[in-house]
Amino acid sequence: MAKIPQATARRLPIYYRYLNFLKDAGKERVSSTELAEAVKIDSATIRRDFSYFGALGKRGYGYHVDSLLAFFKKTLSQDKLTNVALIGVGNLGHALLNFNFHQSNNVRISAAFDINDDITGTIQNGVPVYPMADMQEQLTVQQIEVAILTVPASVAQSVADQMIAAGVKGILNFTPMRIAAPETVRIQNVDLTNELQTLIYFLDHFGPKKDEE
Ligand code: NAD
Repeated sequence: MAKIPQATARRLPIYYRYLNFLKDAGKERVSSTELAEAVKIDSATIRRDFSYFGALGKRGYGYHVDSLLAFFKKTLSQDKLTNVALIGVGNLGHALLNFNFHQSNNVRISAAFDINDDITGTIQNGVPVYPMADMQEQLTVQQIEVAILTVPASVAQSVADQMIAAGVKGILNFTPMRIAAPETVRIQNVDLTNELQTLIYFLDHFGPKKDEE
C-alpha cells in the first residue's frame, strides 16, 4: 500500500471514531457527504483520503462501514499493546484508572504519577502511583511515550514540560489549558463540550438507537 500522507494519517482517528459510532448505530454503509457533515471535513478530502486506503465508494452506495473499520483498526495499530502513563490522580484521573480502557483497545495505563503523598506509593485499580521524581525512570523502563494529563489547569504547562523532558511524545490533554510544546510532541485535547455536540448531532441525524440493536 502506498504511504499515507501525514495530513490524511492525522484524520484517521477521527474517521475511525465516527465509523465506530455508525457501526454501533447499526449502519452498514455511509456516504462521503454524510461523513463530511459529521466530522466537519469536506467530502472531497474524505474521498481523496479514502482512496489512499484503497476504499472506493460507489455512487449511490457509499462506503462499507465494516471494511473501513477493519482497515483503520490495523493502521491505527490497535492490535498491539501500548502502555500509557497518567499524570494527576484526582477525580478525573481516578475515573480513567478505573476505566483503564477495559483492556479492549489494546491500550492500557500502566503507570500513574502524582505529587500527593497520600496517593503515591499506592496501587489504584492495578496501576502503581509513583511520585513525580520517578517519572523519568518509569517512562524509560516501561517504554512509555504517551501520557494522559489530568492535573489542575494552573500546573498543566509546567507538568507538561516535565513530561516532555522525560521523553513523552504524545499528550492526551484533559485540562482546559492549551499546552505549548515543541513540534516533535503531539498534543491531543479532549474537549467534553465538543463530544457532547457530536452526540447531539448523531441524535438529530440518526435518532436514538433502537431497542433491538
Ligand atoms: P483534581 O484536583 O481532583 O485532581 C488533580 C490531581 O493532580 C490531584 O491528585 C493532584 O494531587 C495532582 N497534581 C496537582 N499538581 C500536580 C503536579 N504538579 N504534578 C503532578 N500531579 C499534580 O482535579 P480533577 O477534577 O481530576 O481535574 C483534573 C483536570 O481535568 C483539570 O484540569 C480539570 O479542569 C480537567 N477536567 C476535569 C473533569 C472532571 O470531570 N473532573 C472533566 C474535564 C476536564
